[in-house]
This record gives sequence, C-alpha cells and structure tokens, in this order.
Amino acid sequence: MSLPVPAADDAAMTRALELAASAPAHGDVPVGAVVTRAGEVIGEGRNLRERDGDPLAHAEIVALRAAASALGSWNLEDCTLVVTLEPCVMCAGAILQTRVGRVVFGAWDEKAGAAGSVHDLLRDRRMPHRAEVLGGVRAEEGATLLRAFFDEKR
Ligand SMILES: [Zn+2]
Repeated sequence: MSLPVPAADDAAMTRALELAASAPAHGDVPVGAVVTRAGEVIGEGRNLRERDGDPLAHAEIVALRAAASALGSWNLEDCTLVVTLEPCVMCAGAILQTRVGRVVFGAWDEKAGAAGSVHDLLRDRRMPHRAEVLGGVRAEEGATLLRAFFDEKR
C-alpha cells in the first residue's frame, strides 16, 4: 500500500535518504532530514550525535536549525520537514517550537516514535500548535538503511 506523495516531498525524501546514508561514515545512526519551503530546500541535516558528541544533534534538529538560520527566523510555519524516520519526543517538541506546518516522515519507530507510534505529539489537541503529518513515505528505504547499520554493528 502506498499513498500518492507530492513530488516535492518525494524529491526531499530522496535527499533526506542520501543524507541518512552518509551518517554511518562517522558512526551515526542513519537518519536524514530536509526542510522545504514552497518546494525549495532551505535546510538539511543528518544525525550528528556521535560525530559531534552532541546528544541533541538528531537530523531534524540539525535541519531545523539550518532552515531557521537560512530564513533568519525561528518561525518555520510555512515549511515542511521531511525526515527518514518518525521523529522522537525531543524532535517533535522542536517541530512544535518552530511551528513547522507539515511533517513528512519515512519509517515508523514503534519503540520511540512521537508522530503516531508511541505518542502523537504533533497532532495532540491539548497542545497550542499542531502539524499536519504524512507518515510511512518510502518507509522501506529508510528502514533498510537503519537495518543495515544495526546488522553491521552486531
Ligand atoms: Zn529525534
């Protein structure tokens, strides 16, 4: 089963997957993210936790910071975040803080996902801000990168 995915989101996911694939070169779990605005990429990131020794350097945070820096504003309400793995609780919090209007993600994270798996923070009606969510986009490709990484570590 696959839902039709807007072409701009599909292109951004291709880039996010490329970014994810480059993370294991420095020992990082392969997750990549891209922020788009009106179909243009304005920020990119990959997981840099190991490389930078930074516990907060998830791909989403890196991409959101790059986008805010490019725009000269913390407010990313007219942007879309595209990420290869369902955001965790921390990243969902960052998404709400930046007011990103849409989130497109790849693989589901049944253990720690905060966009529909364990939690659904991005659509929690008790929160003052919410984001539109499209999950499972090219999920198999995102999951395959993760599986290959963890198989190698074993
Ligand atoms: Zn995260």
